[in-house]
Amino acid sequence: MKNANKCPKCGSKEIYTDEGQKKRGEPETIAISNWSRLFIDTYICTNCGYTEEYVRQTDLQDSKKMQKLKDSYKKKIL
Ligand SMILES: [Zn+2]
Repeated sequence: MKNANKCPKCGSKEIYTDEGQKKRGEPETIAISNWSRLFIDTYICTNCGYTEEYVRQTDLQDSKKMQKLKDSYKKKIL
């Protein structure tokens, strides 16, 4: 839904996101080390409830964070 303008499950265009917004409360994150986290943007279809989550763009462009991720996760074998 980040890269398409409609929900892939139900086709609705009623999609809401918290991308670029200041998060209320505890922001959603993925720990990649004891002190480093990736922030998550969420996209929600308000028609069927389908939800997509993406690592925030600024974190994707942060090569140190991406290296930590690659060190602590394993690459999917294709
Ligand atoms: Zn939907």
